[in-house]
Amino acid sequence: MDDGKRKTPGCAVTTPLACRLKRQIQLAGPITVADYMAACLFDPDYGYYTTRQPFGSDGDFITAPEISQIFGELVAIWVIHLWMERGEPAPFCLAEIGPGRGTLMSDMLRIFRSLRPDMLQAASIHMIEASPKLATVQKDRLAGEPIRWAGEISQLPEQPLILVGNELFDAIPARQYVRTGSAWHERMVGLDQEGNLCFLAGPGSLDPALLPPGKAEKAEGAIFEIAPAREAMAQSIAAHVMRCGGAALLFDYGHLMPGYGDTLQAVREHRHEDPLASPGHADLTSHVDFHALAKACAVAGAEAAFLEQGEFLRMMGLRERVNRLAAGLPLSRAQAVREAAMRLASPEGMGVLFKAMSIHPPGLEPYPFAMPGERN
Ligand code: SAH
Repeated sequence: MDDGKRKTPGCAVTTPLACRLKRQIQLAGPITVADYMAACLFDPDYGYYTTRQPFGSDGDFITAPEISQIFGELVAIWVIHLWMERGEPAPFCLAEIGPGRGTLMSDMLRIFRSLRPDMLQAASIHMIEASPKLATVQKDRLAGEPIRWAGEISQLPEQPLILVGNELFDAIPARQYVRTGSAWHERMVGLDQEGNLCFLAGPGSLDPALLPPGKAEKAEGAIFEIAPAREAMAQSIAAHVMRCGGAALLFDYGHLMPGYGDTLQAVREHRHEDPLASPGHADLTSHVDFHALAKACAVAGAEAAFLEQGEFLRMMGLRERVNRLAAGLPLSRAQAVREAAMRLASPEGMGVLFKAMSIHPPGLEPYPFAMPGERN
């Protein structure tokens, strides 16, 4: 039942994790795409996030906070605005989830100190990080700051919560289903006749009622993705916000409407490669289905709202901040500031593919998801 896609010649001798996975598959059979993704990202010995520090221009890929300090600065303004709008609760919990190298928090703290040091006094700051290696990187970067580290949302204090996160959901494993005949079978990673990792269709299949419209027209081999672990994460953030008050702001790339397609992708040294080529050595992500996340938030009684990243940044004052920052710089550095901002906000860059998502109690959309006076 091989779906015929993405055979990986030469996969036999790639990485230590490939050897381990092959042995596991020989002994116990194929594994789901979600388990493959989880091993590639978080295997304690060989996982990408557990062994590497991948972000930045010298890493495998670059993220918004690493592209420009302005990203973190505008997110900080959003935090301050929300805190004020909610009546300046004290104490409150300020959390970042999936903080990578700690750059976003570092840029936010600078703004908090200069604009609202009293807000900082009222905040119990938490970083939620799954990778012990990255938590160490963050602790070094933010040494001396009044920050506590946690492994998951449930460890946050029961206080009003303002939570931010960038590119968290895309790094949480997703499952795939492949059309095989009239059924949609779970896509697995197994071994081909030469003993190389390959994709194949497993025995388990998806209840067709869970498929979005258009399933009948899909060709043999078409892919549908779901990510229960992402939905569970969104739901636990939403439940915390409903219990304690506050809101969350999460940036990620993906689609607002459910659909079909194989979005699993591997990136190494700023280049795309076959997701089976070098497990543990490449970053592995897939597009986020924001529609599914909104439904998960609704289960917890919360609401979700969305803006394209470019729109969000412009409404938070991107242009003004760029002009202000560039004004004091020599021409070439000013140009670099403008180019970085373009990359964050233009449709050719990250401005449209990336979305800003707010999770909040019903009717309490924070600015700029609803303009003042627009609320019902
Ligand atoms: N926000 C950073 C890093 C993005 S990469 C930036 O924009 O540069 C994804 C981050 O999420 C990594 O720090 C990874 O270790 C973390 N992560 C992945 N799954 C997580 C989980 N379940 N809980 C907390 N952190 C997680």
